[in-house]
Amino acid sequence: MDKPDDRALRQALVDTVARLDAAGYNHGTSGNVSCRSGAGLLISPTGANAATLTADRIVRLAPDGSVVGDGVPSSEWHMHRAILNAYPAVDAVIHTHADCCVALSCLQRPLPAFHYMIAAFGGADVRCAPYATFGTAALADNAVEALRDRRACLLSNHGMIAVGASLEAALNLTIKLETLARQYLLACQAGSPVILPDAEIARVLERYSGYGRTRLSG
Ligand SMILES: [Zn+2]
Repeated sequence: MDKPDDRALRQALVDTVARLDAAGYNHGTSGNVSCRSGAGLLISPTGANAATLTADRIVRLAPDGSVVGDGVPSSEWHMHRAILNAYPAVDAVIHTHADCCVALSCLQRPLPAFHYMIAAFGGADVRCAPYATFGTAALADNAVEALRDRRACLLSNHGMIAVGASLEAALNLTIKLETLARQYLLACQAGSPVILPDAEIARVLERYSGYGRTRLSG
């Protein structure tokens, strides 16, 4: 059964899918989003299309991953559930196949500290999780590991994940990551980007913490 405030969460998920679609990150139905709700989670349905998605079609999963009520969850529900279970500070998860993140993920290497804003993701890089078949528990495990002390990761030959304490925070990080991935690819076309030293990223993290940001743990 939904709690009264779940109505707002369901609508927030619908709105997030619409915003990902408007940003050009969804490519039809490839993006999926989830948020914590009680001991379980709410997640976009399989084949979610921004034009037809409604709050009623958002799927509720119990803590064991079983569907509560109607609907078929996104094929990546393993990944969403595993991340929410592993990181108590995370309440929202966004997964997309945004172009520049996908391009970088196909190189199977992390996004390094070529720009100081990499620190916004929690450290000196955004890791690229090893490849595993979509929709599998193996991919979920790889994503959880790549997100340790980070707010985003790439998924090899697949896409990206961003997490946050709210859907709004995860969406902002999704936009930030796709922007940085594009800028990194541009820099790589022009030459070899100079990578900032760890000590500088530590200074930036210090400044970010002054803005009231919290560090992920787990
Ligand atoms: Zn995907």
